[in-house]
Amino acid sequence: MDLVDRVVLVTGGAGYIGAHAVKALEERGFQVVVLDSLVYGHREPIESHLKANLVVGEISDRAVLDKIFTTYKITAVMHFAAFAYVGESVSDPAKYWQNNVVGTLALLDAMRAHGVTNFIFSSTCATYGNPQYIPIDEQHPQHPINPYGAGKLAIERALQDYDPAYGLKSVIFRYFNAAGADPDGQFGEDHNPETHLIPLILQAAAGKRAAISVFGSDYDTPDGTCIRDYIHVTDLAQAHVLGLEYLLAHQVSQIFNLGNGNGFSVKEVIDTAKQVTGKQIAIEFCPRRAGDPATLIGSSEKARQVLGWKPEYADLSAIVTHAWKWHQQRHFG
Ligand code: UDP
Repeated sequence: MDLVDRVVLVTGGAGYIGAHAVKALEERGFQVVVLDSLVYGHREPIESHLKANLVVGEISDRAVLDKIFTTYKITAVMHFAAFAYVGESVSDPAKYWQNNVVGTLALLDAMRAHGVTNFIFSSTCATYGNPQYIPIDEQHPQHPINPYGAGKLAIERALQDYDPAYGLKSVIFRYFNAAGADPDGQFGEDHNPETHLIPLILQAAAGKRAAISVFGSDYDTPDGTCIRDYIHVTDLAQAHVLGLEYLLAHQVSQIFNLGNGNGFSVKEVIDTAKQVTGKQIAIEFCPRRAGDPATLIGSSEKARQVLGWKPEYADLSAIVTHAWKWHQQRHFG
């Protein structure tokens, strides 16, 4: 394939998962244009470490999209730009329906207008809702229990309709718990506010918070705390490149889970962080957080088989080690 045909528009490319994907795309020879509002994304890591052209703007701004699609010969869109706080989606659902659903539909309209027909979509295991069986495969019923998951599912459904009607081909990835950081230390998790378990544990390890709150210790799990499937963000990024190459080669829409297939409890994550950091981490046991299922573990067999995807950092200590390295550099470097 000619290099000029390998320009990918990455929305949300200045965000946590998006930046890792941009790096993986560039390593694979793709040229990248990033569209990011910088509401939650960060300009600095993109400009310091990547070649990508950064356009600051909203996915719903048609003029910005028209400019991008006429300036570059975009072969595919990888769409990460979304709000991703589950709790906030419950308290302010309009924000999520507007940006994640209406904004994405506007992006798809612009793609159609410019004849761009390849789309990689960040979806979520939150589209499944409470698990009916474990591990969760792609056939598991989808009954989301919060507006974040419902909005992502709405776009999945739209994509199912857009393929036969408009020839818009998509690869949908349903992520389990993205975690860790770039092994080279270039990017990491930097949410504000931070709500995710591993960064919060590392803040406690670094003495920046007094303790880690453990939300529920009476779940029906071996140690009573919730079990999640943590997947290294670099492995997630690699899957996106493979998904894109699959789509360009085969022109068949597909849906894949992305997880490790291994579950770790909140207590196990804390114990791993103690080992990795060598620090004491105080624990404060708290009531359950609303909407948290006891166990979420995904089956990613399909991604392994169809895409040949092999997670490189499958063990939890690699995930926590890279996250800690980035955390230290970011805050003390
Ligand atoms: N969790 C916790 N304390 C925190 C943050 C999270 O005990 O301060 C738990 C949460 O209840 C869940 C797991 O850690 O069982 C992972 O939560 P996170 O918010 O990182 O990801 P989610 O599974 O909600 O996508």
